Amino acid sequence: MKPYRLYIFDLDGVIYRGGEPISGASSALERIRSGGAAVRFLTNNSAQTRAAFADKLRGLGFAAEPEEVFSSAYGAARHVAPGSAFVVGEPGLKAELEGAGARVVEEGGADWVAVGICRGLTYDLIDEAQWRIRRGARFLATNIDSTYPDEGGRLRPGAGSVVAAVAEAAGRRPEITIGKPEPALALMILEDSGISLNETLLVGDRPDTDIECARRVGCDSALVLTGVTSRADAARAVPKPTYVLDSVAGLAAE
Ligand SMILES: [Mg+2]
Repeated sequence: MKPYRLYIFDLDGVIYRGGEPISGASSALERIRSGGAAVRFLTNNSAQTRAAFADKLRGLGFAAEPEEVFSSAYGAARHVAPGSAFVVGEPGLKAELEGAGARVVEEGGADWVAVGICRGLTYDLIDEAQWRIRRGARFLATNIDSTYPDEGGRLRPGAGSVVAAVAEAAGRRPEITIGKPEPALALMILEDSGISLNETLLVGDRPDTDIECARRVGCDSALVLTGVTSRADAARAVPKPTYVLDSVAGLAAE
């Protein structure tokens, strides 16, 4: 594998699995950093703030700064700010919006309706969101993952299920989706870092989101087998990644 100057890592299934770090991942990231390359974390999860993700990573033994974490909530916030948004989502999304200088509105007009995972979803929230969209508010989705994996392999409804409820009621699809496979977040990382596409590697465990995101952005990609993709599935992956690795532990090895 050629060396890269920017490594963008998906989190779940790549750096950790639930609450457990992937074996050897932390030393691989240390080698990458000490070689002078930049490390960024890219997650569709909109439930938490960048600071909370950085805390989780540090708790699992990884060096991580909040500024290195690009979540769909942070991307949404950069998109909305300095405007205003009515939020169907969790406290992490609201905190990122406010942190970026956007106004979170509960009553009165708002430029955007921002929808992410919302485990407190109610009929009233769907109703308010759809009516605001019907009256002209712009519709943003943090991501459209239909499900996410919980403990013991149980799947739970993801942001995409919440977005679908609002979209169905509003009669409109989101105007913009921030999370992978859409390129918005990865492009934000590239733009902020100033590092070129051909010196960038995106590492993920899902062909349909991570590797597809790399394809849309136009950078190289590595599919790892520590998450949802088995070796047999990797051989048939669409789109085809640049590399297939057992684990991030194999990155930047001597
Ligand atoms: Mg993943």
